[in-house]
Amino acid sequence: MVLLSGEMAQQPKSLDSYVGFANLPNQLYRKSVKQGFEFTLMVVGESGLGKSTLINSLFLSDLYSKEYPGPAFRIKKTVQVETTKVLVKENGVSLRLTICDTPGFGDAVDNSDCWQPVIGHIESKFEDYLNAESMVSRTKIADNRVHCCLYFIAPTGHGLKPLDIEFMKHLHDKVNIIPLIAKADTMTPEECLKFKQQIMREIREHQIQLYEFPECDDEEENRLNKKLKSRVPFAVVGSNTVMEVGGRRVRGRQYPWGIAEVENIDHCDFTVLRDMLIRTHMQDLKDVTNNVHYENYRSKKLSSVSTTTNDGRTKTQTKSPLAQMEEEKMEHMQKMKKMETEMEEVFRMKVQEKKQKLQDSEADLSRRHEAMKKNLEQGYAQLDEKQRQFEKERQEFELQQQRFAEEKKGDKTLDKKRKTKTLF
Ligand code: GDP
Repeated sequence: MVLLSGEMAQQPKSLDSYVGFANLPNQLYRKSVKQGFEFTLMVVGESGLGKSTLINSLFLSDLYSKEYPGPAFRIKKTVQVETTKVLVKENGVSLRLTICDTPGFGDAVDNSDCWQPVIGHIESKFEDYLNAESMVSRTKIADNRVHCCLYFIAPTGHGLKPLDIEFMKHLHDKVNIIPLIAKADTMTPEECLKFKQQIMREIREHQIQLYEFPECDDEEENRLNKKLKSRVPFAVVGSNTVMEVGGRRVRGRQYPWGIAEVENIDHCDFTVLRDMLIRTHMQDLKDVTNNVHYENYRSKKLSSVSTTTNDGRTKTQTKSPLAQMEEEKMEHMQKMKKMETEMEEVFRMKVQEKKQKLQDSEADLSRRHEAMKKNLEQGYAQLDEKQRQFEKERQEFELQQQRFAEEKKGDKTLDKKRKTKTLF
């Protein structure tokens, strides 16, 4: 083998003998299989549009079972992001799949700002990744960033709702959005095609950036991407019921006029979506997340100082870090001062309350003391009276006794005198 430098090195050179670097892809393959893959999928749409059913159909597993019911079975008043993690294995290749649900999305009467929790979740995962990357010791960084967002559009046939437009506008520079027409079996193929065209028209009008299928040198791949692009938004049907059609066991939805097969490309785009999402474009979705969306977030974050407001939103400042720090310090001092006065006020009120309570109990005690004193004095007076009465009765009794004794003595002398008289 001859090593070339400069201009010559640019030209491809075939080697006379086998060196071994043709085996590099195999090394990567083995390493990847050993490490396993991670993918985070977010599903957004109003309750009852078939999100959980579609997720279960996509991964042929009960990600939402009785234990973990889908959003339709959970009553949520506000939008929340809930994550479900599962490890799925196929032919020795493992995939750590994270599904992010948004129960409560679009269910309220007033849906303004209902995309904020979703933005908050996506940015918090970017933040986690950025923090992990900035650590001194960086071992394997878990990638929990949201790689794809399946946005479910209601099959109304009348185009996008204002909420759909606002959501996609707010999220298109943060995540790969793939729009889906939910429950496509409720429309005829013509209606569905018209609805797709209408949606794409509105998406272009509002300059919403959906996930772009990559352009490459490979003609075959380009043809596939073109085909995929022409089917966006994917019209999907979800079902976990297996039925028999012409001797074949298929998953579908039964109607009196026939069966809508989930995996039949003539009936809906489910297989196209599944193939794209899992077989052909999963790595590209991850790459776009890393190279475009995360990079945007990272550069914005590092070129300016961001602060998180009380309501969880991220506020980006374009001041110098020192001025920003000084401002934050001032804000903090003001906050502390305000807290101090508030605490003092609370303390003063508490002391006042306690004082009042003590005064009340003192007054109560003296009232009780007076009443008891009065009772006791009355008792004393009654006792004195009784004693006087008793003394009087005793004296009378003694007088009576004395009189009685004297009477008795008088009687005895009279008897003696009588006896002496009779003797003489
Ligand atoms: P989620 O709230 O968006 O997760 O909705 P679910 O997956 O729980 O589905 C709500 C209801 O819609 C259930 O009764 C499903 O059987 C039904 N459903 C789900 N997917 C489809 C579909 O593609 N077509 C029709 N017609 N019904 C569906």
